[in-house]
Amino acid sequence: MDLNAFFKSQVDDLKANQLNWSPKTLGSMSANRATFDNKEVVALCTNNYLGLSSHKKLIRASMDAAKHFGAGSGSVRAIAGTMQLHRDLEARIAGFKHTDAALYYQSGFTVNSGLLPAILQEGWTVISDELNHGSIIDGVRLSKAEKMIYRHNDVDDLEARLREARAKNPKGILVATDGVFSMDGDIAPLDRIAELASQFDANVYVDDAHGDGVLGENGTGIVSHFGLHGKIDIEMGTFSKAFGTVGGYVCGSSDLCEFALNKSRTWLLTGSHPPATVAASIAALDVIESEPKWVKALWRNRKAFVRGLQGLGFNTGNSQTPIVPAMMPEASVAKEFSRALYDEGVYALPIVFPMVAKDKPRIRCQVNARHSKEDLELALSAFERVGKRLRVI
Ligand SMILES: *Cc1c(COP(=O)(O)O)cnc(C)c1O
Repeated sequence: MDLNAFFKSQVDDLKANQLNWSPKTLGSMSANRATFDNKEVVALCTNNYLGLSSHKKLIRASMDAAKHFGAGSGSVRAIAGTMQLHRDLEARIAGFKHTDAALYYQSGFTVNSGLLPAILQEGWTVISDELNHGSIIDGVRLSKAEKMIYRHNDVDDLEARLREARAKNPKGILVATDGVFSMDGDIAPLDRIAELASQFDANVYVDDAHGDGVLGENGTGIVSHFGLHGKIDIEMGTFSKAFGTVGGYVCGSSDLCEFALNKSRTWLLTGSHPPATVAASIAALDVIESEPKWVKALWRNRKAFVRGLQGLGFNTGNSQTPIVPAMMPEASVAKEFSRALYDEGVYALPIVFPMVAKDKPRIRCQVNARHSKEDLELALSAFERVGKRLRVI
C-alpha cells in the first residue's frame, strides 16, 4: 500500500474540515509575554499557571543537576535509572500532597494510560465522567473492566450508575474523574463523589492536572480544596502544568505506589527523566512552598480577567478556575476571533468540536500569576475590539 498517499488523504480530510493542527513556534521562554512565530504576544494559552518554567530557581537547579549527574539517566527506572533525585522528588510530592507515598512517571498521560489498565481487571467496573481527559479515556479503553460513563459533573447520574454497577456485584468499582476540567475550567464535585463512592463501596481516582498549584491551601490541589485528605484512594497529577516542568505522578498509600511501580507498563518500560528535569521539579515544589505569593497572584489575576470579560459582555461559561472560556456563537467565529486576537498581540486558541460539543465553541483563555495589569488590560481591550467587530458582544 502507498502509505504516504494514505497519510496525505487522512490529513487532507482534516484540513477540509479545518481540524488539522499547525502549531506556532515558541521562540522565547514560556512566559506572560512570549514570542510565537516571531511575534511577541500576551500568552493566554499556557498551562504555566505560576510562571515556574522561567523561574530562576528552577533554571539554576536544572543546570546544577546536569553538571553533576549528566544529561540523561541511562536507563529505565526499574533497572538502573533510579537516581537519588527521583527518590527525593517522590518524597517531596508525597509531602506536598499529604499522602504516604508517590511515584513519578514520564508524564501524566502515561500514569493514566498505564495505571488504570493495571488496576481495572476483568470483573471490575469503571465509571468515568463523560468529559474526562483523553489519557483517562485511553487508560479505560485498555482495561478489561466493564465501562460506564456518567454525565459531566452530574452526581445524580453518577448515583444511578453506581446503583447499576453495584447490582452486578463486581470485584471492584472505580469512579474516575478530572479534578478541574480543562475545556470549561469547572471543578468536579469531589466531596459528593467521595460520599457516593463510600455509600456504594466504590473507590475514587482523581486527576489533579489542572488543580495542582491552583486549588486548595497554597496550591496543594483539589483534595485540599474540599478538605478530603485520606478519603480519596488514588490521586494523580503532572508537572507539565502549574509546576512548569514535565512528568506525571501518582500518590496515595505505599501499597498503591508499590503496585503501580510493579504493574504499570508505562512506568516499567520507559527511560527515566533526566536529572535536570527532576531537579527542576523538586525546585518547583520548593518555590510553591516558600513563595505563596504566586498562587495568590494567580487568583487575583483570574478574578480581574473574568470580571473584565464579563463586563464586556462575554459569556465565560462554567469557569471556576484560571481556565476561562469566552463562548462564541459559531466554530468559524471562534477561529476568526483567535486569528484577530493574535494580530492584536494576544494569543488564545479556539476550541471547537470535536474537542467540545458542537454548540459550545469558545476561545479558551488561561490566566497566570505573571500576567501584569498591563498584560490583562491589553488582552481585554483586544477582546473588546475583536468582539465588537465580529459581533460577539
Ligand atoms: C495535561 C493533562 C494530562 C496529561 O499530563 P501530561 O503530564 O502533560 O502528560 C492528564 N490529565 C489531564 C486532566 C490533563 O489536563
